[in-house]
Order: sequence, then structure tokens, then C-alpha cells
Amino acid sequence: MGQFAVIGLGRFGSAASLELMKMGHSVLGVDTNPKLVDKYADELTHAVIADVTDPGALEELGLDNYDVVLVAIGEDIQASLLCVVHLKSLGIQTLWVKASSHAQHLILSKLGVSRIVHPEEEMGIRVAQALSYPMVNDYISIGNGEFVVEVDISDRLNGAPLSQVLAGEPDSIHVLLVKRKTQITVHPPNDFILHAKDILVMLGQLATLKNVAPKLA
Ligand code: ADP
Repeated sequence: MGQFAVIGLGRFGSAASLELMKMGHSVLGVDTNPKLVDKYADELTHAVIADVTDPGALEELGLDNYDVVLVAIGEDIQASLLCVVHLKSLGIQTLWVKASSHAQHLILSKLGVSRIVHPEEEMGIRVAQALSYPMVNDYISIGNGEFVVEVDISDRLNGAPLSQVLAGEPDSIHVLLVKRKTQITVHPPNDFILHAKDILVMLGQLATLKNVAPKLA
């Protein structure tokens, strides 16, 4: 079991913290925003309000006892860099830092940060890989791993009922609508007969959609 400190409990920092907790690690979450600290107080091992641009406040956190410190401050690049400089002078060795731009990446690497994370890029690549099937026309992420995808129905499935296409798939997949030229059927029933070139708009977890999409082509 590792000891992790996560500075900044925004979307990225909180998701990383909760995942680390799930994996059985101990996590200290730090943020200036009392509402966020309050929100995660019960879910993390410790959650404290502190401004990490203040070296005194940082020192009080006793971060040298942690295996890894993850700086997950996104937008405020100045705060993130100041925090890194202070952590370095406190002798913190294993630092992971979220970077939002190339300039920030460059500065962080000059500061000797061991791991620079680009979540937006990494997520973008992951999503592209996961959904890079020719039959997926378009998709939007709606958070929590849920996506809405638009998939073309192939000639092979002409005349097949929707139930055949979704056979064996979990209930967590929702067919929101079927588009046939200009006609739209919202929440099509299971016995809805598909035509070649229909467009299906589905909602579900990325992992599940990955299994279904190739069956439609
Ligand atoms: P995300 O895109 O991951 O949501 P944000 O930039 O929105 O990233 O969130 C970063 C978090 O870092 C915010 O919750 C913010 O309150 C926190 N934060 C920003 N500056 C400091 C600071 N000086 N000390 C501690 N936490 C900070």
C-alpha cells in the first residue's frame, strides 16, 4: 500500500485520488477550496485546506512522508510551478505534475520533475484508439466513462430487429434514437426493424460500446 498526496482536487486530481483509494492506497488530498475538501473528506484518508503556493503551509503538510506527490493544479500554471519549486526545495523526490501546455512542460522538465502528465492528450489518444472504428461516425464524452456514439448500420443488418443487434449486451447500453434519412425514431422498441444505412445513436460505457460498435458494421 502506497502513500500518495494529491494537490488540487479538481476533476483530474479527484479522479486520481478516488482511483488510488479504490486500489487500497492512502491518499492525502489538498485544495484551497473548502467545498472540495469537504466533498472528499469522507472518501480520502485525509483532506486538508491549504494554499500550496505558501511554502510554510506546504511544509506543514509533511509531504516528505509520502511515496509520491501528484500536483494536479490545472488552470493556474503559476500556482502549479510555484508549488513544484517549493516541493523541490523541501527535497520531495517523486513528483508527478499535470501539465497544461508545452511551455509548462518545458519548465517542469528543467525543474527535474520525474513525471509530467498530460491528461487531456492522453485521454484524447485513449479515446481515439478505443473508438477508432470506421463505423463510429461521431461521439461525445459525457463524463464518468459514458459516451454517446453515432454508428452506421451496415447492409448486412438490413431487416434485422434491434433486439438481434443488442442480444447479449448489458442493459447499460441505451439506444437513444435511430435516424433514417430525415426520419427520427426516439427510443426505438426492441422489435424495431433496422434498415441498411440507418444511423443508431447509443449511450453507454466506453468499454461496452467498444464491443457493440463492431457488431453493427
Ligand atoms: P481540473 O481540470 O483537473 O478540474 P482545475 O485547474 O480546475 O483542474 O483544478 C485544480 C484544483 O487545484 C482546483 O480545485 C483548485 O482549487 C486547486 N488549486 C488551485 N490553486 C491552488 C493552490 N495554490 N493550492 C491548493 N490548491 C489549489
